[in-house]
Amino acid sequence: MIVVVCGPGGVGKGTVVARLVAEDPRLWLSRSWTTRAPRPGEAADAYTFVDRPTFEAHAASGGFLEHADFLGNLYGTPWPEAGDDHDVVLEIDVQGAEQVLEREPAALVVLLEPPSRQVQADRLRGRGDPPDQVAERVAVAEQELERGRALGAVRVVNDDLDDTVAEVRDLIEARRSW
Ligand code: 5GP
Repeated sequence: MIVVVCGPGGVGKGTVVARLVAEDPRLWLSRSWTTRAPRPGEAADAYTFVDRPTFEAHAASGGFLEHADFLGNLYGTPWPEAGDDHDVVLEIDVQGAEQVLEREPAALVVLLEPPSRQVQADRLRGRGDPPDQVAERVAVAEQELERGRALGAVRVVNDDLDDTVAEVRDLIEARRSW
């Protein structure tokens, strides 16, 4: 099974996914490639950081399950290398979720929604995003939410972290027992 956790930047996808994976050994977290520069203090293994020609060559050779341009940087999911006994978790944007669903219609797609724009902006600032990028990301969030809802993703408002993790875990368990 493929589990896609998508939603606007600053909604807390990374935190939710980290908890899910830490608590469930059957989940295998995909590491994306990006052309974005690492943020100050960001873990070196948060992404596979590459330059644009390297990314584009990998995309041209069919190396990605999906890839997208997000605010001028490229992001992509390499073809998963999880064994059959694992479920793959992708933490990606809504454009990526659309592509995954085209290829894998049985994927479970969860759309994480921020409780409010203010909370989203605070989270983006809190992790050190520059002010111009905070404004840009909040502006695109509304479109992303609309596209995610149109996809038929399961919507989960990330208000309380424990509740959100429990809700997504229940969705995964329910899908496993289909
Ligand atoms: P950030 O720059 O904040 O790390 O990521 C920007 C956006 O790109 C976030 O919504 C993040 O979830 C998304 N993203 C991260 N990796 C991928 C990926 O492999 N594919 C796609 N389509 N989006 C990704």
